Amino acid sequence: MRYEGNVFRPPSEAYSLIVQVTIGCAHNKCTFCGMYKNEKFRVRDLAEVVEDLKLARAYYNKVERIFLADGDALCLSFDRLRNILTEIKAIFPECERVGIYATPKDIMRKTMEELRELKNLGLGILYMGLESGSDEILTAVKKGVTAQEAIEAGRKAVESGLKLSVTVISGLGGRAKWREHAIRTGQVLSAMDPHYIGLLTLMLVDGTEMKRQVDQGEVELLAPEEVMRETRLMFENTNVTNCIFRSNHASNYVSLRGTLPQDKESLIRGIDRILAGGCHFKQEIFRAL
Ligand code: SF4
Repeated sequence: MRYEGNVFRPPSEAYSLIVQVTIGCAHNKCTFCGMYKNEKFRVRDLAEVVEDLKLARAYYNKVERIFLADGDALCLSFDRLRNILTEIKAIFPECERVGIYATPKDIMRKTMEELRELKNLGLGILYMGLESGSDEILTAVKKGVTAQEAIEAGRKAVESGLKLSVTVISGLGGRAKWREHAIRTGQVLSAMDPHYIGLLTLMLVDGTEMKRQVDQGEVELLAPEEVMRETRLMFENTNVTNCIFRSNHASNYVSLRGTLPQDKESLIRGIDRILAGGCHFKQEIFRAL
């Protein structure tokens, strides 16, 4: 396979074939994100993408999952995505699921019929970064979307039949806004009712605006215990119907997992045990993005 720049994928796509259909992120403005800061966004030629698929076919006997990178590849036009998924179906008939990163705006730009057709062609899961349910925090981190827009996009994705995985970042509002972050994020997740929630913990990346804000004292990072309190408050405000929750990312101080709503109380009790000193937090040197 040929890759350009840094290639990122969700943890659950660790065993997927990663195919870059875009380079970089079309938004590329979030203050905490350094993933594609050095990449100039562009759409890859379809011919190049198909060449990559054929190269991979020659190399792998069986490919069950494919992830379309980079940062927000659902920004591609419906026609381009349809062409890519059609090629995947022809080249990898055994492929069970195609995944893709999607911003709320990417989802809203597609009609319901288009999303359903993409699903019929093999698109299985959208990974959407909510990051926070607080409009104040979304504006501060330049996410380019409101909480209401994120809810509408999330609902639309779920109603189209696609799986929706939503990422949230602990500590994104700093000490000043941890309560607001926890409560509003729980409320927005409840309104979206996704299939998966992934909780990361804020890590500072060199060269980002967030790093500068922390260095200059404009934003105060949460200590691990404060992250736990924030997560607890978020759980209290999260009412979803059937959702797998994971905070097992390398950035997290503690790994939590469960299915909501049935494990909500045990997750909260687990956090209480952690806060009572029943667990060691991951050391900073072992945290990573
Ligand atoms: S967080 Fe996502 S949308 Fe924001 S700049 Fe990074 S890749 Fe782009």
